[in-house]
Amino acid sequence: MACEIKEKERIGTINPIFTCQPAGAQFASIGIKDCIGIVHGGQGCVMFVRLMFSQHYKESFELASSSVHEDGAVFGALDRVEQGVDVLLARYPHVKVVPIITTCSTEVIGDDIDGVIRKLNEGLLKEKYAGREVYLVPVHSPSFVGSMISGYDVAVRDFVKYFAAKSRNGESNGKLNLITGWVNPGDVKALKHLLRAMDIDATVLFEIEKFDSPMLPDGSAVSHGNTTVDDLRGTADAIGTVALNRYEGGKAAEWLQSEFGLPTIVGPTPIGIRNTDTFLRNLRTLTGKPIPASLVEERGVAIDALTDVTHMFLADKKVVIYGNPDLVIGLAEFCIDLEMKPVLLLMGDDNVNYKNDPRLLAMTEHVDWKMEVVTNADFWELEDRIKNGGLEVDLILGHSKGRFVAIDNAIPMVRVGFPTYDRAGIFRHPVLGYEGAIWLAEQMSNALFADMEYKKNKEWILNVW
Ligand code: SF4
Repeated sequence: MACEIKEKERIGTINPIFTCQPAGAQFASIGIKDCIGIVHGGQGCVMFVRLMFSQHYKESFELASSSVHEDGAVFGALDRVEQGVDVLLARYPHVKVVPIITTCSTEVIGDDIDGVIRKLNEGLLKEKYAGREVYLVPVHSPSFVGSMISGYDVAVRDFVKYFAAKSRNGESNGKLNLITGWVNPGDVKALKHLLRAMDIDATVLFEIEKFDSPMLPDGSAVSHGNTTVDDLRGTADAIGTVALNRYEGGKAAEWLQSEFGLPTIVGPTPIGIRNTDTFLRNLRTLTGKPIPASLVEERGVAIDALTDVTHMFLADKKVVIYGNPDLVIGLAEFCIDLEMKPVLLLMGDDNVNYKNDPRLLAMTEHVDWKMEVVTNADFWELEDRIKNGGLEVDLILGHSKGRFVAIDNAIPMVRVGFPTYDRAGIFRHPVLGYEGAIWLAEQMSNALFADMEYKKNKEWILNVW
């Protein structure tokens, strides 16, 4: 009995866990203020992605499409990018940042977006938009490699690479770069709370707290990220970088380290007590700021809350986890700390680095029950094991796309990750930090309690815990 890391053996995918690279690049782009990305491809590459963002966050977001048609797919469609940039700038006078995000079709036909950006910079921007601050950023995100995870990672790196520049005096701005990865507004709030408690001035990349937008009297109906061009530029003058996730923002952190020599720490994703402790210690190392008593107390509240449910209800429960890799690994580590037994982790793309991830390798060394980590996985890997392989599962953790496996097999499920659209307000709650640890443990417990009620578990019904 041990933990094994393996790749899905079948060719083809049945019910994918992730969508494609441009989706990740689009998510990064909506985190930037005064930015509207143009996705260079068919309209569906934007429409369905935008819909998914809206379903998850219950807000509207602005993204554009170059809307490539048959003729463009055969003869090239760079003219659509040129027209798209012009129309976008004319219609949205506030827009400064326009990433040109490629897709499978436009990468296959070989459209040279770097070349067309040079042409637009020399021509249209000088002639028609002279004096206006506009940045056209190429983002290559062909969908035939990677997934929305690598698309996000690449886009975050490309935005940072495009803008980051040392100030003239070369002095540090005293700020810490905090690259969050693909998180929810609730996580950003929780992270800012931890930073505030430690009196740390940070540039949060990308700052998406307002994806939980207020409805204001001015009637504005569109949500925007809050990372500015100056924020991105200033990343080069920071005192250091912490990237919470290895696969979502890790590339940008490594680039900042190699280009500007910034002290950099990648991971661990601060899910659960152990990883949040490490995160705070990392903040202390990079900034020299002490961990205050208020956070020690907050930690104590979390441990108390976990103690209430761990041994009695969560211990030994068999869990399946799927979704974004850093989230999956962080959740698995947290479950193990709660005496639960992750039996299957599904990573939805073919990133070859998963098999060397130290966090997964630690599981292969320490886990003493049968556990599988499947890369390049789809939902059939889960469904087949339950229906035909005798896999016993007490709880599923993952996003809404996998809910039918839970529903069909009457397995309790906690919605976590992206996209979650069949439960209210998930985006509002953090999974990160001590606060997130409490929320996760109590969600898991409540899901198990409700399941015991539905299944008329006498012991639970008579229980007065
Ligand atoms: S797979 Fe290709 S065509 Fe489909 S949404 Fe992704 S980029 Fe667009």
